[in-house]
Amino acid sequence: MGISVSDPALTPISAKVEAGERLSSDDALALFDTADLLGLGALAHFANRRLNGDRVFFSANQHINPTNVCILRKNCVFCSFARSPKEEGAYLRSLEEVYHEAEAARNSPTREFHIVGGLHPKLRLEYYLDMFRGLKERHPHVQIKALTAVEVANLARIEKMSTVDVLLAMRDSGVDTLPGGGAEVFGVGVRAALADRKLIADDWLRIHREAHDMDMFTNCTMLYGHVETMADRVGHLAMLRALQDESPGFLTYIPLAYHPDHNELGERLGRTGTATTGFDDLKNIAIGRLFLDNIPHVKTHWPMVTPFLSQIALEFGCDDVEGTVVYERIYHEAGAETPMMMAYDDLVRFIRAAGKDPVERDSLYKTLRTFPDDDPILAAPSAADDHPTQATPDLTRLVGTGRA
Ligand code: SF4
Repeated sequence: MGISVSDPALTPISAKVEAGERLSSDDALALFDTADLLGLGALAHFANRRLNGDRVFFSANQHINPTNVCILRKNCVFCSFARSPKEEGAYLRSLEEVYHEAEAARNSPTREFHIVGGLHPKLRLEYYLDMFRGLKERHPHVQIKALTAVEVANLARIEKMSTVDVLLAMRDSGVDTLPGGGAEVFGVGVRAALADRKLIADDWLRIHREAHDMDMFTNCTMLYGHVETMADRVGHLAMLRALQDESPGFLTYIPLAYHPDHNELGERLGRTGTATTGFDDLKNIAIGRLFLDNIPHVKTHWPMVTPFLSQIALEFGCDDVEGTVVYERIYHEAGAETPMMMAYDDLVRFIRAAGKDPVERDSLYKTLRTFPDDDPILAAPSAADDHPTQATPDLTRLVGTGRA
């Protein structure tokens, strides 16, 4: 029996998905075009279950943003996080301040530091290498996911080094993986509208290829919901898929929803609040799963799309949930009203309430912990016991608390 779709345009795609055949760019466009959200979700769910079963991964992670000062402050019109050096709210953490912030990991389950920030005009590579070494020394059990390709390229420019040498130095100083930020949308026209001085697509892809070639795993993203067309989205996904074919190393694809508050693009577009719709958020997850057949995981980023929608995304092809976070700043500057973190136990119950098997993972997707039914976290009373299809009260408490 075939997967149930109501849009006839999805019927041939459904046959391909069942047969495990690769989807074409035209197929992806048809998926973006369809109003049959449940049919699309069923296809993506099928593809995801074939890869990941009912497992849903999460990591106990801590975000660290060493500086929000950025030389592209006036250029990336979608960014609400960056500041000019003397602008109100600009900050630069000393290494001691970073270590102090990271102390939160000592008495918590944290197993990953996620470190990204602005392109500070004066920060040298040594600052970051000292930071990575210092963090590893203090927290040897915590892996480091650090610096987008944009930051790597900026350090290479400042130091007059190759990006390969910057990556090697980062790896030797303790960096385990690279995050996937800075990709935005690769299309030339979109990039010109969003950030015409930012790293171009070819260079973003080259740096990830260089990392993969030295056996460093990385992640990839697409920032959607601003000025891009559906063809731009598909072109972006096709470039990610082509790189993964050529030089495998992407672990996770993360679609990121654009938020329009406190940035120039939002003002220009006359938008405030949430720019994307739940329909579009779910489509981006599902199409990512179906089209990127060579990337093992698709993650939902709950700080951007809300924990509620992220939970539903687990039925739309998604097998990974953004972690505990502690504390998210970048999207909250852009108006996200989601919580700044999620407690470990809440995250586990949140996944189980969707009928899935929570799996705590490390940065490389090694399983750290699974949760049998008698695990004390799951045995704790929750509304899900009475209403198995609803979110736990913990989640209700978490949503809408706004900024910390
Ligand atoms: S998106 Fe990144 S590079 Fe661009 S201004 Fe913001 S922090 Fe800087």
